[in-house]
Formats: sequence, C-alpha cells, structure tokens
Amino acid sequence: MKNYCGIRFQEIQNGKSNRRYFWIHGDELTARDVLLAHMKKFQGRALLVDNPTRVIKMPPVEFDPNRMFTAVGLERNLKRLNPNSTPEDRQRVLAVVGKDREKLLRALTPPGNGLLTVVHNNSRGYSVTDEVQISNDVSLAAPDTPNDFMLCTDPKDFALLRKSPFNVVLQSDPKGEEDGSFSRLAAGRKIRYVNIECAKGRFDTQRSIMEWLEHNLP
Ligand SMILES: [Zn+2]
Repeated sequence: MKNYCGIRFQEIQNGKSNRRYFWIHGDELTARDVLLAHMKKFQGRALLVDNPTRVIKMPPVEFDPNRMFTAVGLERNLKRLNPNSTPEDRQRVLAVVGKDREKLLRALTPPGNGLLTVVHNNSRGYSVTDEVQISNDVSLAAPDTPNDFMLCTDPKDFALLRKSPFNVVLQSDPKGEEDGSFSRLAAGRKIRYVNIECAKGRFDTQRSIMEWLEHNLP
C-alpha cells in the first residue's frame, strides 16, 4: 500500500513497461474491475485508490480527488463541497495534499513518453456531448452510446484513436476554468493521457476500449 496526498493507494506492477494506469474514484467499481483484469494480462504499473466513496473524507471536510491536482482546483472544490468550512479547515487539506502532490504525479507520469490510461464510470447522464464544446477535436464513431468515450490530450494519439470504433475527444489545450482535474494537468505537462469513460456496468465495452489502446497506441 502507498500513501500520497493523505490518500491510500494500491500499487500493481506487472513486468516492465512504460504504461501507467490510474483509478481514482472509489465508487466506480466497473472501472476498477476492468483495470484489475487488465493488469493480469498486460504489463505496466497501476495505482488504484483505496477508498470506499467517490469523495475523500478528511473531517470536517471532503473533496473530489480528481480536483486535487492543483491547489487552485482543490480550494475551489473544497469550497463547493463544504460551503460552511472555515479557511483553516481548507488550509489543513491543502497542506496535506500539497505536501507530496508532486510525488504522486511522478508516480503517475509514464517514463519515456509512455501512455497513462485512467478509467472512470458515469451514472448520472454525463456523456461525450458534455465535452464536445470544450474540446479541440471530436470523433463520434458510436453516437448511440454517448456515455462511453475517450478523452485524450495528445494530438498524435487522437489521430490513431479516431480510427477506432469508439467516441473520442481531444483536449490538448483545455478551455474554461482551471479545475484541478488530472486531464487538464496532463495536457499542460504534455503527458500522453487517455481517460476511458464508460457508463457504470459496461464492463465488456470498457475492457474492449482498453485492449484497443494496448494494440493500437505506441
Ligand atoms: Zn470518475
């Protein structure tokens, strides 16, 4: 077990490869199962959050861990989820997370321009159509299943992914406000990042997309 940013993570290493994998929302169990199955078959290193809920609870406050990748994004999320919190409550969390955020990012950044794959699930209607307006490019190969899509940060990866039978958006130059999400940080740091976002329960689809990536991205 590893600990970064006051959060526990399970680390899985399979062989030697510059692939990295990440699962961060503790209630997105389909995505977790897909990643666990994937790591038995493919090489690389995965970090999986050890937390039973979507949010991380640090009493008296809580926060969305996919908003913690910058101090600005985390502060905004803390205020939003804990409107009655004091500046001291928030400062405590900002200090705990900020202390080794860079260490977590080093563990997640693939060596040698390798690929980082993250997995998420949605259950409240979030879909690729929510991302189209703020994306740099879009390919909707599967318009009938808009809840299943990829979000990538590298134009070269997008050029390959758009040949897949799956929906994909490119966000290499994200628009809108700094939100502390990992995709935004990856775009800024030129990390090759692909988020595979599928509706909850769509195990086979999410697994197929992951395998497509293994076979078709360098
Ligand atoms: Zn998620």
